[in-house]
Amino acid sequence: MALREIVTLPDPILRRKAKPVREFGPDLQQVIEDMIETMRQAPGVGLAAPQIGLSDRLIVVEYPIDDTQEDSPKKLYVVVNPELKKISEETEVATEGCLSIPGMMGDVERALAVTVAGRTRRGQPVKIKAEGWLARIFQHEIDHLDGVVYTDRASRVWRPAPGEDVIDNV
Ligand code: ZN
Repeated sequence: MALREIVTLPDPILRRKAKPVREFGPDLQQVIEDMIETMRQAPGVGLAAPQIGLSDRLIVVEYPIDDTQEDSPKKLYVVVNPELKKISEETEVATEGCLSIPGMMGDVERALAVTVAGRTRRGQPVKIKAEGWLARIFQHEIDHLDGVVYTDRASRVWRPAPGEDVIDNV
């Protein structure tokens, strides 16, 4: 396993539409292991392949199963070729940060619940229902695969003051 460098704006790869993954061999498995390690080390709760300089449709997400409990175990999601299927009409505004846009925060309106469909790391079909923050993370990561960053969608972007609440980066 190896840590990968997280690319930041204005790197053009973050503005490119990533290509679908077609091979589920050892090269992909290595990239996935590196992405998990890089996400954990950052630390972040999600990472998309373009954030490590690869224009592939691949995301990793790790988030507490019960985010109201401080010691909740986390669940790791690896989704290849993810797509948003069901998107709730109900939305919510919350504050996001991004590992590729260091030192900034922004308020973004997103769907409260989504269903993500895609493939597992071995190429099997998978469907995930997500609500709240987990749904937000998936929307943020899938945006990265389409060259969209949260500041494109934000109603307000700012540089946090020292001591301002640290938020999960994705
Ligand atoms: Zn991001």
